[in-house]
Formats: sequence, C-alpha cells, structure tokens
Amino acid sequence: MNTEITNTSTEAKPVLGEVYLDALKLHQGNDELRPWMKKPFYVKDLAVATDAHTMIWLDKNLVDGLEECDRPNPSIVTDSMPKEINENFTIDVEKIKDAISKIELVDDFNIVGESIKCSECDGDGEVEWEYENWTKDFDCPKCDGEGYKSSETRVKNGKKVIDPGFQIDIKQSRFSVEMILKLLKTQEILNAKEIVLCYQIRPNAPYVFIIGEAKVLCMPMQKIDEDKVVVNLA
Ligand SMILES: [Zn+2]
Repeated sequence: MNTEITNTSTEAKPVLGEVYLDALKLHQGNDELRPWMKKPFYVKDLAVATDAHTMIWLDKNLVDGLEECDRPNPSIVTDSMPKEINENFTIDVEKIKDAISKIELVDDFNIVGESIKCSECDGDGEVEWEYENWTKDFDCPKCDGEGYKSSETRVKNGKKVIDPGFQIDIKQSRFSVEMILKLLKTQEILNAKEIVLCYQIRPNAPYVFIIGEAKVLCMPMQKIDEDKVVVNLA
C-alpha cells in the first residue's frame, strides 16, 4: 500500500514584509539613552534600524507600519550612509562559518536580582557617627558598609556561547565575531544568496555590505589583538 502523503502547499511560509522587519529588528539598539534607536523607523524613502555599531536599510515600500525617525535632524541618519560603491567583494561565508565553528565556547550568564542601594547610606557604605560632641564616618550599621541592600549577580545559565572576544579580518579592517554573526543572521533571515562588500575606504571607517534587498553598514574595531583573529578574508 502506498502511504506516501503529498504535501499540498500547506507549509507555512513567512510573510515577506515580516522577514524584512525581522532583519531590521536584528540591528536595532537597546540603549535607554538613545530611545529612537530601539525600533526600526522610516527616514526619507528608506526603512532603517541601527544600534550605532551596525545599520541596516532597505526600501521603505518593503516594510509596512513603521514610524518616522524620532530624533532631531533625522537626515543625519541618511547622511551617514555611504552612497558610493567602490568594492565588489563576495564574502566567503563558508570560510567564516568554518572558522567560527572552531572557536571555543564559554559559559553564558544570566543577570539575577538587581542592585538596590541601602536606604540609610544611599550606597555610600558609610554614615556619620556621633559620640558626645565628636563625629566620624564609619561603616553604615544597616548594610554593614556594603552600601547595597541587594546586588545583582551573574549566574551561569548552563548554555554555552561563542567567546565574544574573537575577531575577523576583512580586507584592511577588523570586526568582532559578534558583528559578523549578525551579518550571517541577516543573510539567513533574508534568505540571501550572498554577502557582498560594496564599500570601504580605510581601516577605521564604515564598511557597507549588500545582503539581498538590504544594505548593512558595519563599524570596524581597533586592530590591536592580533592573536584574537580567527580568519582573514583579503
Ligand atoms: Zn548602608
């Protein structure tokens, strides 16, 4: 008996607009001091997201429902995007993945609890003591000089993550593995065939990559730790 079942198009495919939104969100910031970066936004004819280290942009018609950029002088955002194309260098993604797979994994931590200042000494750990007509600063009796009623602690969560200290050289610049993993993730989300470097001028200036419909700007890091470099794409 033939028990083979033919799948007739019920497989869930992601809606394209959501795919673009996911790619944007991957690059949004989480800095409380820069709330405008905490979600994707429109500027001029683009949908954009940035965390100040990377920035992604694509045609605004590809993504519905964003709001206009909520910062003063939003054209600063588009002004910082290099318009020129001066490179056509296809990134060897397999070589990068291979190098990253050899990086040792380290323990991942969760932050547990929160740091709450002692109400008596307001975090100083010392208070003024008085004896007859003498005064002197000594350990706060309420917190025993700790200054805090409770403190946050880092607790291993059992997961292993790639040691974020490693780096990857592309052309004349150096990038954190974390940033390159973000590029690979962007490629995966957008289901893009390749990652192509299209712009770079000097070691400490932005690099721009084309990934499917998107462009992604990455800021290189200082080239200091030679022994932390796991692969070099020249
Ligand atoms: Zn105290």
